[in-house]
Amino acid sequence: DVLGADVALTDLPLRDDLRGRSPYGAPQLDVPVRLNTNENPYPPPPELVADVAEAVREAAGTLHRYPDRDAVALREDLAAYLSGATGVAVSHRNVWAANGSNEVLQQVLQAFGGPGRSALGFEPSYSMHPILAAGTRTDWLPAPRRADFSLDGAQAAAIVAERRPDVVFVTSPNNPTGQVVPQQDLRALLDAAPGIVVVDEAYIEFCTEPSAIELIDEYPAKIIVSRTMSKAFAFAGGRLGYLAAAPAMIDALLLVRLPYHLSAPTQAAARAALRHAKATLGSVRALADERDRVVARLGELGFSPVHSDANFVLFGRFSDAHAAWQRYLDAGVLIRDVGIEGHLRVTIGTPEENDAFLAASKGLVDAVN
Ligand code: PMP
Repeated sequence: DVLGADVALTDLPLRDDLRGRSPYGAPQLDVPVRLNTNENPYPPPPELVADVAEAVREAAGTLHRYPDRDAVALREDLAAYLSGATGVAVSHRNVWAANGSNEVLQQVLQAFGGPGRSALGFEPSYSMHPILAAGTRTDWLPAPRRADFSLDGAQAAAIVAERRPDVVFVTSPNNPTGQVVPQQDLRALLDAAPGIVVVDEAYIEFCTEPSAIELIDEYPAKIIVSRTMSKAFAFAGGRLGYLAAAPAMIDALLLVRLPYHLSAPTQAAARAALRHAKATLGSVRALADERDRVVARLGELGFSPVHSDANFVLFGRFSDAHAAWQRYLDAGVLIRDVGIEGHLRVTIGTPEENDAFLAASKGLVDAVN
């Protein structure tokens, strides 16, 4: 008896180009071991929780006023973190922030994509890139990877030169396949691209490859490097994504962003969490070691894990990946069916969670191969 429930989506005057599409939908299920959305498995330490709570309490006293529209203090903190992490002198004028890097990427497409324009990505990659393109009515141009899911830099650059997309997405390390894109391949893409190249570095903290932030000074009118606090920073629930680029790129995003998009509590909480960056990022090394252990063990069990520079691993082969996904779920382990034939993706969790996943894998190896 829900009000208005007799009207279906198909009855609504929806835009034609959105008809028949599916929303982003990683299942959120209440199971003991959740390894399906590439979160950091370690909850924030008590000092961070206390600091965030105090910062939000202070912000609560100002809630009758709109927050700082340009989030300058937060951008200064993010710039300081990036400068320390990359060795490149990043100013707050090089940094922009929003509610998750998904919102950052949407703003990029609102400014540089749109009707009559196109965005290109190398698939399989992050499923939100084409969804954001659809929402902004940017034509989506899928381009291939090698059979082993790595990016063929020369081929990628040739495709970009030929198709001339307004926006190119390069995910490094790539989700869901795991490999980082070497800087020489990024240069080839930047040289070939007529428009914007977005390097999505959501997982960059998990690898040792230098950040594409090093390339901003060389390609200021082309490159945008997007980042997030959702993964290495263990702040997925805080919803804070950001980017580094030339100041003029940020001037472009100001034209499309909603005023006051980052709430005062969000800005305060993110700043407090950043003060604990050293402790939070301490988990990164342990997660990378666990990843290597999981990969080695999957190999011993007879699976073929794909090389990963991130906090997740794509592995196969399954004769029926979806049936295998269900069997993991039946064993209390939620992983991800990303729609790649014969493969599933597992996020690296705590050692105990990874053991539970590996135990379930052992039981599965004969049943599903
Ligand atoms: N980029 C990539 C490659 C991702 O995997 C994700 C999260 N799954 C995001 C961006 C978006 O993350 P968030 O909006 O939480 O910053």
